[in-house]
Amino acid sequence: MERHAPVYMLLHSSSADTIGHTFGGESKEYRRQIWRIDNALARAIPIWRKLGYDVIVTADHGMTEDGWHGGTTSIATNVPLYLFSNALAPEEEQVHSQLGIAASILALTGIAPSNGMGDALLIP
Ligand SMILES: [Zn+2]
Repeated sequence: MERHAPVYMLLHSSSADTIGHTFGGESKEYRRQIWRIDNALARAIPIWRKLGYDVIVTADHGMTEDGWHGGTTSIATNVPLYLFSNALAPEEEQVHSQLGIAASILALTGIAPSNGMGDALLIP
């Protein structure tokens, strides 16, 4: 990010998904991988923020203890959303649709979301 200064970057760590499928979402291996990702983000996010970036940390799904994430169960569909931003501020402890994430990214980059994308989580 320091070298190329992208307007937008998506960092997708598929390691948690792979470990979750292999060992299950309640395994020590899965917890250890989540800790590794958390640790890396704890070091990177302050640097990215200092460079002026808004940071959104979330997941596209959870993981069951059996190593699965299909379906509509709460563990598969309810994921955390962390925002490190001066422009984005949904209410804490509020449940939001993931559709709002795309709309928020577009709003941050100055592109108007199309109809039906959901509401951006911007500070009014
Ligand atoms: Zn998967």
